[in-house]
Amino acid sequence: MNTDRLMRLALEMAELDEIPGDSAIHHRGDGIERVLFGIDLKAPELVIASAQGYDGAISHHPVGGSSTLRFHEVLERHVDQMVGAGVPREVAEETMRATIDDRRVLNSMTNYDHDPSVAVLLDLPYLNIHTPLDEIGRRRMAEAAAGLGEDATVAELIDRFYETFGEFRNAATEIEIRVGKSENPIGKVVVSHGAGTNGGYPVAKAYYDGGIDTVIYIHCRPADAKRLIDEVGETKNLIVTGHIASDSVGINPYVDRLRQEGLDVTTFTGIIPAYAAIRRFVLPHTRPPSCGHGSNLRGSSERLYIAGALMVCWVQVLAALGLRVDRSGSDGRRSRSPVGAVWGTQQEECGAWEVIHEREQSVLRVGASLRAKARLDAGRRRGACVAGRADRWERGVRGQRGARLSRRRAGLRTVVQSGY
Ligand SMILES: [Zn+2]
Repeated sequence: MNTDRLMRLALEMAELDEIPGDSAIHHRGDGIERVLFGIDLKAPELVIASAQGYDGAISHHPVGGSSTLRFHEVLERHVDQMVGAGVPREVAEETMRATIDDRRVLNSMTNYDHDPSVAVLLDLPYLNIHTPLDEIGRRRMAEAAAGLGEDATVAELIDRFYETFGEFRNAATEIEIRVGKSENPIGKVVVSHGAGTNGGYPVAKAYYDGGIDTVIYIHCRPADAKRLIDEVGETKNLIVTGHIASDSVGINPYVDRLRQEGLDVTTFTGIIPAYAAIRRFVLPHTRPPSCGHGSNLRGSSERLYIAGALMVCWVQVLAALGLRVDRSGSDGRRSRSPVGAVWGTQQEECGAWEVIHEREQSVLRVGASLRAKARLDAGRRRGACVAGRADRWERGVRGQRGARLSRRRAGLRTVVQSGY
């Protein structure tokens, strides 16, 4: 593998013909087998990569060189996206003119050689891939949104995103409604992403004026959202999905592709896996004593033990299928059951466990109550995702706006979804 091919693979996946202005190969190299990949990978991380024997380093965000000096070029993509959504071209161009010019001048003031020069000194192949991966993420999110009708509510759209993308479920941030409200119909939706950075107030306003009802940004300054509220009240919607989680939605398919190509890829500095590496399961209708809600455990130790034993049997079956269940909790507050199960203390009346398919490095996610018959066929559904209501309940516990689900709904039904 070499740096050119690393870039070309991303362009192919994003269906782009040429390297966008905000992406660049900063130090060429080949014979790359182990690569370190982060959302922000600069001089200190290059030193780490070199010291730990990586053959190459990939940053998502621009890190200097032409990716900084030509960054303003990708802001033009906002114009194309707006025109595609029905905004008149002259309005779209006027909307972006000042922003593009400001960015060009501001970026030309920076020391654009800082991080690339460190890679050269270390002789470490180094590139950054920004817009191609954001474009992959934009398409995936737009596809998920397109599955809903115009009558669907903002809450349902957010729910759809959590269901579809493990990155959102695993992120420390939550999807937020910055303009509008959860019960609003989504109407016409646009995912404004993959164009350098968010377009702030001017771009969202141009979309609203052009007949779009719901704009999806991955981030937005508070002042911009406030100004939009001042002008449109709650009649339009602005959903902010979270920067790092949304970047990861575009990055993960590319990381998977690199691994398919035989590369050993280590992700860090912000890349949120679609599936957390550490899994947990919770037995139904039981809670760990340590979480302070021990009422369900009173007098139920027998049931607890039997259910735990059943779960262990299930784990053995999965192991026989070549799957591994990691029985570690992931929230820091956990205790072991008599049979070695570990409790995820944020869960309550649902069971959720996830299965890692080691051989393929793909993951099956299984969420269901113990009583649900979670059907698992690793061969047939390799790479597919089975997510259950339990998972939605988990999100409800985390309390993100618009997607809180009742305890009653958690648990039984499973849904099948493909992708990440
Ligand atoms: Zn980003």
